[in-house]
Order: sequence, then structure tokens, then C-alpha cells
Amino acid sequence: MKQIGDHIWQISAKAEGPHLMIIGGTHGNERTGVEVVRALVDKGLSLEAGTLTLALGNLKAIEINERCSEPHVDLNRSYAEDLLEREPKGSYEDQRARELAPHIAAADYVIDIHATNKPSEAFICSLFAPEHLRLHDFFPVSKVLGDPEYILGGAPVTTDEYADAFGGAGICYETGQAGDTSRVQEVLEEMLGVMKGLGLTGDGGVSSPVGGKEYYTLSHRILLTEAGFTWESGYGNGSWEAFTTGQVIGHHGDEPLTAEYDGVVVFPKIDKHWQLGSSVGYLAKRIEIDTN
Ligand SMILES: [Zn+2]
Repeated sequence: MKQIGDHIWQISAKAEGPHLMIIGGTHGNERTGVEVVRALVDKGLSLEAGTLTLALGNLKAIEINERCSEPHVDLNRSYAEDLLEREPKGSYEDQRARELAPHIAAADYVIDIHATNKPSEAFICSLFAPEHLRLHDFFPVSKVLGDPEYILGGAPVTTDEYADAFGGAGICYETGQAGDTSRVQEVLEEMLGVMKGLGLTGDGGVSSPVGGKEYYTLSHRILLTEAGFTWESGYGNGSWEAFTTGQVIGHHGDEPLTAEYDGVVVFPKIDKHWQLGSSVGYLAKRIEIDTN
């Protein structure tokens, strides 16, 4: 593998094929992705077709084992579509996003490996477009979360959304809980499986598609206001807590947050990430999609 940037590596085969990029450590405390990318770099891979780009995301945050290099400056909210035409913001995350952006834009498929701060089964975040659906099969997860209305960032700002904006297919893979590295070997095998499934390599990995997924879309951002917010008992402890229409999920001060549909809580934030005017968690709605 050739180093083509600061902790960015690439290998290409002579034969044409898809360009896959795998990123770990967009959030520095999400260690599985960091370990998987390091292992792939060390593996001495050779490709039969196409190109593989590997990268570590937020190098400063990885060094200090924190989500971001300083509170509330998030690399995974730094990829505005016109990032490279904008004036630099001066933050490390903004600078790092500018280094990674051209590589993300150049790839056909981008997998950004994450982990959640509260407990969750593994799942993927992705659009439901055909090229994305093709990739979904290679992940042994039962849930896919889409955000077609950009409720997470208010606009396309994440790694996978940046890939999508430049004609690629971006997937954010939530591998489990941050700090838990027990799935490193499994996730490594899964990435080798994706490479095999896309035709980059001829051996190794799991290439049997896994079907039967549930699809959800983000539907609501729970904002922390001056009134404060408290979760109702049984909510806010982890992703995929289910609720039904009419159920109270929490309170903004005295004001109940009542579910208007059947759904689930996703990405509840840990206390130290709570910030006035920012989200403390999200609601998502189950949807049916035609995968054929
Ligand atoms: Zn993350």
C-alpha cells in the first residue's frame, strides 16, 4: 500500500474495478474502526481489480481517545458539499475534512466505521438507493437507518453524505459500542467480504449476502432547550428502544414529548455530549422499502 496522505493509504490493481474507501476513527474514541483500518494497512493486501483507499479520520481525537479533538467540533459534521470552496474555519476537524474530502469524493463506495456512545446492536446508516442497497447485503446487521431529510446534521455534512454528493455510495457502519473492541476481527472479515463482493479481491472474507433487513428513517431531533430534558424511564439508555403512538418518551421541562407514530429512539447522547441547542437523541420511524 502506498501512503498518499497523512494516514491515507491506497492500492490499485492493473484491472479496472470499483474504488472502495474504508475510514476508521472519524470519531477518535470509536476504536474498532481504527483497529480495522490499521489491520488492513498491515495486511499487505493485493487487489485483482479496482482501487482500495484506507484512511484514519480524526488523528488528533484518535490520539486522545475522544470523539473530537475539542468539544463539539465534529469531523462527521464537517463535510458540507461545498467544503472545498469555503473559507477554512481554523479548526483541526475542518482542516482534516479538507484533506480527506477529495479521496471520499473520488471513491465509488465509502464505508465509514463508527460505534455508538451508548449500547446498541450493530447497524448501518445509509440512503436506500440501488448502489447502497447493493452494499447493504454485505453487512450482517438487521437494521438500516436512513436520513433522507438530513435531520442529523440539518444538511448533508457526514462522510457518507459527502460520498453520496459526489456520485458515490456512502455507508456509515455502527459496529457496536465505542471502546468495545471485541468485534475487530469480525468487522475486519466483513470488510474483506465487501472487497470480495465488489470484485476487488478473489479470496478471504465473507461474501454471502445477508438479507431480511428492517429499514428506518430519522424523523425527529430531540433538542436540548433552556427547559432541559429528561428521558422517561426506559428511554435514553441505548439505540433501538421502541415506542408506540401516544407514548411519552421524555419531557422538555414539564412539556411531554409524546410519540406521534410507532418508532424507536436512536443515538441517545451520553451526558458529557449534552449541549444547549443541540440534540440529546433522535427518533426514527420504521418504513417499508422495495429492495428488488
Ligand atoms: Zn461515530
